Amino acid sequence: MALKITRRDFLNGMAIGAGAGAGLLMPGQVIGQTTASLASSKLPGDYYPPTLTGMRGSHEGSYEVAHALAWNGQKPSSYEELDEHYDLVVVGAGQSGLAAAWYYRKKMGPTARILLLDNHDDFGGHAKRNEFHQDGNMVLGLGGAQNIEPMSSYSAMAIELLKDIGIDDQALAAMTANTPDDYMLGGKMSASNGMTIPTAGGHKTLSGNWLGFFHGGQGYGAAVKELPIPEEEQAKLIAFFGGDRDFLDDLSLLEQYRYVKSVSYNQFLTERVGLAEETLPILGAFTRVLLGPAGWNLTVLEALSVGCPGLKAMGWLTNRLSDLAGGFVLGDAPVAYMFPDGNASVARLLVHKLIPNVAPAMKGFEDVAISNFNYEALDLDDNSTRLRLNSTVVGVKETALNHVRVDYVEKGQPLSISADHCILACYNGLIPHLCPEMSDQQKEGLSYGVKVPFVYANVLLKNGRAFAGLDTTFTQCPYDPFQWVSAAPTVTSGGYQPPQSPDRPMAAFMMASPTPADIKGMPARELFRLGRHKIYGTPFKDYEQQIRDQLQGMLGQYGFNHETDITAITVNRIPHGYAYSYLGLDDPDWDEGHAPHEIGRAQFGRISIANSDSEAIPLMQAAFDAAWRAVQEQSA
Ligand SMILES: Cc1cc2nc3c(=O)[nH]c(=O)nc-3n(C[C@H](O)[C@H](O)[C@H](O)COP(=O)(O)OP(=O)(O)OC[C@H]3O[C@@H](n4cnc5c(N)ncnc54)[C@H](O)[C@@H]3O)c2cc1C
Repeated sequence: MALKITRRDFLNGMAIGAGAGAGLLMPGQVIGQTTASLASSKLPGDYYPPTLTGMRGSHEGSYEVAHALAWNGQKPSSYEELDEHYDLVVVGAGQSGLAAAWYYRKKMGPTARILLLDNHDDFGGHAKRNEFHQDGNMVLGLGGAQNIEPMSSYSAMAIELLKDIGIDDQALAAMTANTPDDYMLGGKMSASNGMTIPTAGGHKTLSGNWLGFFHGGQGYGAAVKELPIPEEEQAKLIAFFGGDRDFLDDLSLLEQYRYVKSVSYNQFLTERVGLAEETLPILGAFTRVLLGPAGWNLTVLEALSVGCPGLKAMGWLTNRLSDLAGGFVLGDAPVAYMFPDGNASVARLLVHKLIPNVAPAMKGFEDVAISNFNYEALDLDDNSTRLRLNSTVVGVKETALNHVRVDYVEKGQPLSISADHCILACYNGLIPHLCPEMSDQQKEGLSYGVKVPFVYANVLLKNGRAFAGLDTTFTQCPYDPFQWVSAAPTVTSGGYQPPQSPDRPMAAFMMASPTPADIKGMPARELFRLGRHKIYGTPFKDYEQQIRDQLQGMLGQYGFNHETDITAITVNRIPHGYAYSYLGLDDPDWDEGHAPHEIGRAQFGRISIANSDSEAIPLMQAAFDAAWRAVQEQSA
């Protein structure tokens, strides 16, 4: 049942009215401010995008210039040449661009002149911060990238960068200690993580360690019997989770190996385990938000390796894979480290290191989450490193003077600057349009992958009383538009105090994969494009309706009234999300050096390519590694 929004008191995400949202900037206000500042190109003193609500992420004004270029080949015919020359220009101020600036500055010295350009109104790329204020309380949320993975997956250079910004072993240990044991999203994998299913009488949320139940964890049988699904489906799930049968026992070892590498996980679930298609979302909500696609686009092996159920139900594979996935889902060791605004704190620490004046009083790791940043200081003439927002690069070309000319559009103005070197830490798919002189082979390599789209919403609630009724800080919602719902980080790192009682305002963090889950046989890259189009075609009011419906269904039974209990909504749409990483069902096994991303990232004279796309790995450590490589190329 769709709820009607009867009280139109929301203006693109934020409640208007006495007491609600006090201290927040109105989106229109900031758009007005940025427009007013166009002539000077300087940001006004009260410019502070983390507090903006409504449609964020790929916000209006951030993508139009790039789309005109990529879709229609349109860009300005002339540019005003600014009297600015840099040692290095970095296109993109996400983790990779920021890391490239840092690695370059470390190598070339603090006087190196560096300019970062980014098309968004905030830095960090995927690592964005959502910040709410209500009744004197600051509530932080994740606008994108969530957490730092264990250091075992980081290269020496990436670990060094983290240490440079104060995230050393001690800080990581503190982050683990500062994450409550009941907060699954912060890496406490044995915490309760629920399962929420809509029923005629409202949503039913079953708390408990469902990721553990998937693998026959204690109490799995009773938990499955609580699911509002037909009894025969319950019985199949119980047999599957508990490993009562080997569902591949008719195959030889070699055939099993081929099977798990070549058959989709959902095909396995329907054909071998015998599950009805209606039951599949229960097993798929987890991977959809973790990876993007549904089980029709993952091999059995890929699904198992990220923690999907089945390890116990496949004979020999159990032992081989339990190392890979068992630790992840049943978890003793920390699997992630989280700041209250996710990896936005990492971006803030990097920006602070590059441009200390942005937060002169900030110490570092210990107060990064609570420090206010002065955006006006990002792009001052005196800075050796400058960061220019609202600036979309449309052309990058080596000139006869052995310089690189960088053309960009800043708030409607076509401008041009020059540099000795350029690092493209933006999206692979756009680079062929920025550098049309590249070879066709390189352009093809760059254009191969399609980034995985996501939508992350933060919903400010007047208080946490109804949410507490769920009896879990995280739950999977397989049949809802937002497949994961969690409390926003309850971690105390970076000096932040999350809400201390259910009587305080809190944020519900809602995550969705817009990639279609029910289309079979279509390559994931096509589905990601469809997901991206769906994002651009969905106006804020539709997201608002989905959020209100879903939260009312989940929380109504605990006294929640969406009309009065929601005080602000921020929807971070991320049409160009994860870097594409190859999938067993769609991509060949390329020889080393011949994969599209490897061909695409070749140095192009004074231009090098960073960004996690160039590593084909959607993780921060890959963004850092790509930055390191690009800097080595340009400083050799
Ligand atoms: C929803 C989500 C959750 C994630 N969670 C995690 C996580 O928990 N842990 C983890 O390690 N990783 C996570 N990631 C992966 C994340 O992509 C990387 O960690 C990292 O942030 C990528 O940084 P990047 O600089 O390579 O790319 P981006 O963050 O995409 O930065 C590139 C920047 O370049 C800009 N740009 C593009 N074109 C232009 C142009 N023409 N002109 C100017 N600027 C341009 C973009 O707008 C963007 O700001 C997540 C990603 C997403 C989408």
